[in-house]
Amino acid sequence: MTIDWTPVTERVFVTAVEPHRVNIGLVVGDASAMLIDTGNTPEQGAEVLASATEKAGVPVTHVLLTHDHHDHIGGLAGMGEVISIAHEGLEPVEVTRQFSMAMAVDLGNQRVEALHFGPAHTDHDVLVYLPGENVVFAGDLLEEGADPQFDERGSLSNWPMVLDGVLGAANAATKFVPGHGAVVDREAAFIARAEVGIIYSQTEMLIQQGVKADDAAEAAEWPFTKETMANVLPLAYAELAAKGIEPRRQLPIFGI
Ligand SMILES: [Zn+2]
Repeated sequence: MTIDWTPVTERVFVTAVEPHRVNIGLVVGDASAMLIDTGNTPEQGAEVLASATEKAGVPVTHVLLTHDHHDHIGGLAGMGEVISIAHEGLEPVEVTRQFSMAMAVDLGNQRVEALHFGPAHTDHDVLVYLPGENVVFAGDLLEEGADPQFDERGSLSNWPMVLDGVLGAANAATKFVPGHGAVVDREAAFIARAEVGIIYSQTEMLIQQGVKADDAAEAAEWPFTKETMANVLPLAYAELAAKGIEPRRQLPIFGI
């Protein structure tokens, strides 16, 4: 497998590996470099690390995991002694450093900020902001060229707010690296935010109209495919039910 690093800026690169064409980021500082996510398998992780070290020209000392889906963490076991960083809610692999809300790493004239704004795609998503590069690594909070994926640990109501956490710091030149697909700009990130946001708000409206979960896909226009909606609508109904918002039940009719 040849690994091609596509420049995002002069010191930030991305490569996509199969399966799932998952994006792996490489952030280069004066003293050291960091990978963002790891690929699918230990073998792939080892290859990515070797290639990244060659590309960076400085040691790759850190690996940051955006969340625990296997295509993002599967390569870590092949990466040896690097310092691994994840949100404290990430469980399947052991990491060197965990954080709850925010942490920063200085790679030498290259500050990396890791941020957690609550549940969205999962319950432990990390957004990575590079203030010196004007780049955001969004993990699977953003996808390009495919629908977002919804995990029962995530939150449809909070997901747009999580994106707001970095959109507020972004400008028209900010580059967003999604978990899968091509690098996008702020405008595309705003659209993705709106598309995710509509799931929760429109489901709430349908529930208030008495529409049951099984009928919701056909009862409104949705921004995603039928398959995606079949997966996400039960999650939306469950999230709203947990807040006491459910379709009104027919009152039992008592016999005379
Ligand atoms: Zn994911």
